[in-house]
Amino acid sequence: MKTKNHLLLIVLSALISGCNIPAAQLTSSQDEADLILVNANIYTLDAKQPWVEAVAIKDGVYHYVGDGTGVKQYQGENTQLINLQGKMVMPGINDAHQHPEMGGLKMLYQCVFPFTATPDEIVATLAQCVKDNPEAEWIIGGQWDSDLFVKYPMASPKALLDAVSGDKPVLLSSDSGHDGWANSKALELAGINKDSQEVEGGVIGRDAATGEPSGLLLEHANQLVEKLVPDWSMEQYKTATVHAMEIANRYGITGLKDAWAGESALAAFKALGDAGEVTLHLAAAIDVKYGFDNETFDVTKLEMLRDRYSANQVDTRYVKIFMDGVPTSSRTAAMLANYLPAGNNGHSHNGGLHFDIEKLAEMITALDKAGFTVKIHTAGDRSVRVTLDAIEQARKANGDSGLRHELAHAGYIDEADLPRFAALNAVADLSPYLWHPSPIIDSVLGAVGERGEHYWPIKDLVESGAPVAAGSDWPAAVPTMDPWVGIEAMVTRADPRGEFPGTFWPQQAITLAQALDIYTRGGAKALRLGDSTGSVELGKSADLVVLNHNLFEIPAENISETQIQMTFFKGETVYQRTESK
Ligand SMILES: [Zn+2]
Repeated sequence: MKTKNHLLLIVLSALISGCNIPAAQLTSSQDEADLILVNANIYTLDAKQPWVEAVAIKDGVYHYVGDGTGVKQYQGENTQLINLQGKMVMPGINDAHQHPEMGGLKMLYQCVFPFTATPDEIVATLAQCVKDNPEAEWIIGGQWDSDLFVKYPMASPKALLDAVSGDKPVLLSSDSGHDGWANSKALELAGINKDSQEVEGGVIGRDAATGEPSGLLLEHANQLVEKLVPDWSMEQYKTATVHAMEIANRYGITGLKDAWAGESALAAFKALGDAGEVTLHLAAAIDVKYGFDNETFDVTKLEMLRDRYSANQVDTRYVKIFMDGVPTSSRTAAMLANYLPAGNNGHSHNGGLHFDIEKLAEMITALDKAGFTVKIHTAGDRSVRVTLDAIEQARKANGDSGLRHELAHAGYIDEADLPRFAALNAVADLSPYLWHPSPIIDSVLGAVGERGEHYWPIKDLVESGAPVAAGSDWPAAVPTMDPWVGIEAMVTRADPRGEFPGTFWPQQAITLAQALDIYTRGGAKALRLGDSTGSVELGKSADLVVLNHNLFEIPAENISETQIQMTFFKGETVYQRTESK
């Protein structure tokens, strides 16, 4: 107080005496910044001034954006000043599609092995998990390569697990998270046997000769076992979410959308939000289980969940619907053309929609009217088309609500449908973390055939004016939520880790500037925060990252090696790199 009065006196006397106020002095104590960053290379994502060298932050927002001289007027006694010595700074990353609580739960409490694990390695890991967790009711884990059982044909997948699982039920999920591999105990508890009826939208894997269940459960069939697995405790959900947010901040993520939040996750988010422990902009798409387990579609219930669990930093005005599966060897994404014939079921088909256009249009129209942004899982070009049709119907019924509904993954898009994204203000929510040469892509190409080469036409989308966002989908199909992996893949269309050679449809590569725009401003819009974050502009939330290198001065192949030095969320430090990391 004393210093401020003193300062005010100086200012007053300067005014009274008619002198010019020195630039280094505050014009008013109200202008005193909490934090000033100087001598930085700040990539603002603001076309009016793409690069600046300094910012002043006050009350969590940018109070000044400009040069090093101009910023001085905001420096006061209590201002923290950081000289960044030329380091690149940019807005924090917004990940439009991930599953933080699932990722955290997986890292902290599940039996985990890499996608590259062979059956022998998986069995060895499982044996260790069973040994380490004598108290566990179930052993849950993953994730196996979708092509595992093609690469390693085996008579009885369940028997492999039975050999080491003792009396514990086991369920291991696939890299897409859609399919399960269960042991005999789990099948028995679920009542799955050779007389079991097929499940709509799913497949119970069976021994061709005997009809006995093999242990493989595709898509909806996986729910039969999944629903028996006891839920984690609220403490576990909260701990897992905090763990995921810490990882996110470490990678420079300051906003993310949970793409499929169940009620337990929502409750954990609210508890953390109320306690002031959410360190990023968190949006949650409430799961709509319509089509699963005979659940009905109920907007009133979704509104109740939305209102009950919205909290400080937690935005629950989103829902998630699944329209199809995945275009890997499980052949469950709804495609326009037939898949290549599969060895085991012998016939060629084009995958299935989880429900028809009328139902989807009814749901999207009702949700749009209730103020929800809908994220629809659409992996195949047929589900993309049907979903665009449904959004079109919702627009006709409700007028333009301004809500940007999202087509999640949308890897396959028929050329005729490309311009419809811009026309309908529908977002392509892409998953570049796994769309580069990899075993997953091999699995896709093995199922889709030549057509499969034309996967994720991001350049065409961007040039058509389509709104685009991107997400890691962690932990569904990727080992990490590291956004720099996705950004590099968008620019190079090659494997960022360099393990798998070649490039995948390189004509669709976009520029670094375009990729950064998708991950900052694009993601901010997906969080309904386009006006308040995603770029470094006056009045916007001071969500920013300090990088170890200037992305524009390094080879594109090195983008994925980016290391964050500091992450700020609303002007507060939420991550600071220490030398050991
Ligand atoms: Zn997902």
